Amino acid sequence: MKAITKDFSLDYAKQLDASDALAPLRNEFYVNDDLIYLDGNSLGLISKRSERTMFELLESWKTHNIDGWTQGERPWFFLPESLSKQMAALVGAEAEEVIITGSTSSNIHQLVSTFYQPQGKRTKIMATELDFPTDIYALQSQLRLKGFDPDQHLIRVTSRDGRMIEEDDIIAAMSEEVALILLPTVLYRSGQLLDMQRLTAEAHARGILIGFDGCHSVGSIPHYLSDWDVDFALWCNYKYLNGGPGGVASLYVNKKHFGRIPGLTGWYSSNKNKQFDMEHSLTVEQTAGAYQIGTPHIFSIAPLIGSLEIFEMTTIEDIRRKSLHISRYMIDLINEELQGLGYTIANPMDDARRGGHISLEHDEAVRICKALKQNHVIPDYRSPNVVRLAPVALYTTYEDVWKTVQILKSIIVEKQYEAFDTKRGVVA
Ligand SMILES: *Cc1c(COP(=O)(O)O)cnc(C)c1O
Repeated sequence: MKAITKDFSLDYAKQLDASDALAPLRNEFYVNDDLIYLDGNSLGLISKRSERTMFELLESWKTHNIDGWTQGERPWFFLPESLSKQMAALVGAEAEEVIITGSTSSNIHQLVSTFYQPQGKRTKIMATELDFPTDIYALQSQLRLKGFDPDQHLIRVTSRDGRMIEEDDIIAAMSEEVALILLPTVLYRSGQLLDMQRLTAEAHARGILIGFDGCHSVGSIPHYLSDWDVDFALWCNYKYLNGGPGGVASLYVNKKHFGRIPGLTGWYSSNKNKQFDMEHSLTVEQTAGAYQIGTPHIFSIAPLIGSLEIFEMTTIEDIRRKSLHISRYMIDLINEELQGLGYTIANPMDDARRGGHISLEHDEAVRICKALKQNHVIPDYRSPNVVRLAPVALYTTYEDVWKTVQILKSIIVEKQYEAFDTKRGVVA
C-alpha cells in the first residue's frame, strides 16, 4: 500500500505534533518525558483527573461513612448509573443501555448466561480461534453449565493466515445450529477491526443473537451499538479508557432486551426503589442496571470518573481520526526505515479494518521488547512473535513514534537484542 507520508524527518514529526488538535490533552496525563509509552492498549496511563477523583472518593468515605451511599457529591449507590451516560456516548448507546459493573470476564459470564438459550437444534456458540483466552474459557464453562460438551458446541471460526478472521468465513459458519455469537471487535493480536454492523445484520437475518467484546476498541473507535442493533456488548475500562489496573468494566444491553431476567442475579439486579424493601421476590430493573449483581466496587470505579471527563473534551470521532493518522504514520515509517531487518507488519493496512495498535512481527520479538524497554520505550509482547505498539490518540506524540522506529532500527542494526535472553516475562 502506498505511503501517505512523504517526509521522514524528525522535523516533520514535530510539525505533525504542532498541528495536532488533540495534542493539549497529553497534558491531562502523567506522562514521563523520559519514557515512550506505547502500551495504552493494555493499561492506559493515569490522568490527573483520575487521581483527583480517586482522592475525592476517599474523602467521601471519611466525610460521610455509611451515608456516602446516598449523600455527598457522588452518592455511591448511583455511581454506576451516573457514569453510564458518558460511557454510552462513546459506544453509541442510550444511557440506560450501559452499566459500569464487573470485569470483562465476569460480564461475559453474565451476558452469555442470559442470552445463550439453547433450543432444539440451536445449541452452539460461535467465537473465533484468535479470541482472547478468557472469552473462550468463559464460553466453554457456559456450555458445560448448560450440559453441552464445549468440544462439540463451541465453534471457533478459523483464520486463513493466522492473523485475521474474514467476515465472510464468520457469516458462512452462521448455521441453524448456532444460538449465540460472541466476537471481538478488534483482535487483540493483529489489531483487525471486525465489521460489527454487517455481522450483526447477518446474524439477525439467521435468527442468531450476537454480542461483542470491545476491550480493544472502546475509547479508540466509535461504536454505534444501538443503530447497529447489537444485542449485547462488554468491555474493560482500563485499556484505552484509562480507568486504572483492574478497574470496573462495562456492559451494554440493547433496550429491546430489557425485562429479561439476567442469567446471574443479585440484589443489585433489583429496581433501585425496591432494593431496600428486602423482599425475596426480585423486581428486576428495567435497564442494563439489572445486570449488576452485588455492591459496586466504588474505589475501582473512581479513576474512571476522571478519565471520562477527558473524553468529554473531544469526540470519539476525533480520537479515531488521530488514531488512524498516527498509526498510519507509524506504518509508513516502519516501511521506510525497517526494510530488510526482519520486521513484518501484521495488522490490516486498510483504515476500515484497523484498530488502534500496530502489530509488528519479528522472530526476535521477545528480545526486541526487552531492548525497547532498555531504551525507555514500553511496548508489549504477545507470544510467539508479536511486538504490539499502540500510539494512543490522547497522549502519544508523532515524535514518540518517530523515535520508536529509530530505536527499533538500532536494536537490530546494532544487534542490541543479543544482550537479552529469550524468556518472556510473567506479564508479557
Ligand atoms: C483485556 C481483555 C480481557 C481482560 O479481561 P479481564 O476480565 O479484565 O481480565 C478480556 N478479553 C479481551 C478481548 C481483552 O482484550
